[in-house]
Amino acid sequence: MSTSVTRQTFDQVMVPNYNPAEIIPVRGQGSRWWDRDNRDYLDFAGGIAVCVLGHAHPAMVQALHEQSQKLWHLSNVLTNEPALKLAQRLTELTFADRVFFCNSGAEANEAAFKLARRYGNTSSGGRKNKIISFFNAFHGRTLFTVCVGGQAKYTQGFEPLPGGIQHLPFNDVAALEAAMSDEVCAVVLEPVQGEGGVLPATREFVRAARALCDKHKALLIFDEVQTGNARSGTLYAYQQYGVQPDVLTTAKGLGGGFPIGAMLATEAAAQALAFGTHGSTYGGNPLACAVAGAVLEELVKPELLANVQARSQQLREGLTQIGERYGQFSAPRGMGLLLGAPLTDSWKGRAKDIVNAGLKQGVWLLVAGPDVLRFAPALNISAADMAEGLARLDRACAALK
Ligand SMILES: *Cc1c(COP(=O)(O)O)cnc(C)c1O
Repeated sequence: MSTSVTRQTFDQVMVPNYNPAEIIPVRGQGSRWWDRDNRDYLDFAGGIAVCVLGHAHPAMVQALHEQSQKLWHLSNVLTNEPALKLAQRLTELTFADRVFFCNSGAEANEAAFKLARRYGNTSSGGRKNKIISFFNAFHGRTLFTVCVGGQAKYTQGFEPLPGGIQHLPFNDVAALEAAMSDEVCAVVLEPVQGEGGVLPATREFVRAARALCDKHKALLIFDEVQTGNARSGTLYAYQQYGVQPDVLTTAKGLGGGFPIGAMLATEAAAQALAFGTHGSTYGGNPLACAVAGAVLEELVKPELLANVQARSQQLREGLTQIGERYGQFSAPRGMGLLLGAPLTDSWKGRAKDIVNAGLKQGVWLLVAGPDVLRFAPALNISAADMAEGLARLDRACAALK
């Protein structure tokens, strides 16, 4: 067995579906992490909108430590206290009556889409099975979820593909009106398209989707894998739209870095997944649920939600200034601490270059496609850390120019 590993090891032993940066982070604290040379990085990416409380948050460490000494795993043949407590809390805090646990966003969506199909099929004798989704949507990487997602590059080469899915332009009320029928079992949308460029749904569009789903007895599914868990400034983004979905999927920030996903559903929708119709070995794992339970209690604190608003404002202003100074991107859009800055015409396609320049200056950001910079820092990031990250990004943009 070899004793040392380097970035080169990745190219030797990993399937080549990723291409990580040269640096290898080894520890993190709050909104910073350190590489093997003990260089620190400001984390504006949050492990892709996952680390809502930053790295090694004491409440999470404690929950994991305590649970790790009690009970690790049972499967769903038996239930457990952390899962029951978390489900109870999620139903108290949201529209939902019932919860299904899994381990990732893709699995939460897979469950939601299977629920929708079964809901439609059992209520119609097999004729109500069409799923409507939107171009540029992202719902995960299983075969069903890439097909419901609206980015053709993620399905290419994986044919034959599951059918019964129609894609429409996002935020286009007329197109949705025209496509709706009694054959539709579900409409699925992200309140803010995350991977697709950090594009918020309009209020009008979300309301129209609700009304059309009611009219045609279809389920309205919100994919809040990225927008959820206080990232938008409320626990879930739907709470700012004045519209309740029938089903909501979440993951990413739910475990704050411990893998967990959940599908939340109304009583009526949940009945479609009757006993034996779906399942997961790890779903509802006590370690994951204990950590998520601790995360959730931090996320509903008023001071945390106030920090999301204040830091969102600070980040928006900082990015707008840097954008104006160097002309690489325009003012950001998004909600709360999920912001996207679109590149200007002459910088189109170069989002990755700016990310790499940022890493050189010690700040980690994300892209959302080739033309948008994406920011998803910890929700408890301090004003000082935000300012330091912005200063490093300023240096990165200056160096690039
Ligand atoms: C990340 C993401 C997913 C997929 O989540 P995984 O945990 O990677 O499977 C699904 N939907 C949205 C909106 C996402 O941002």
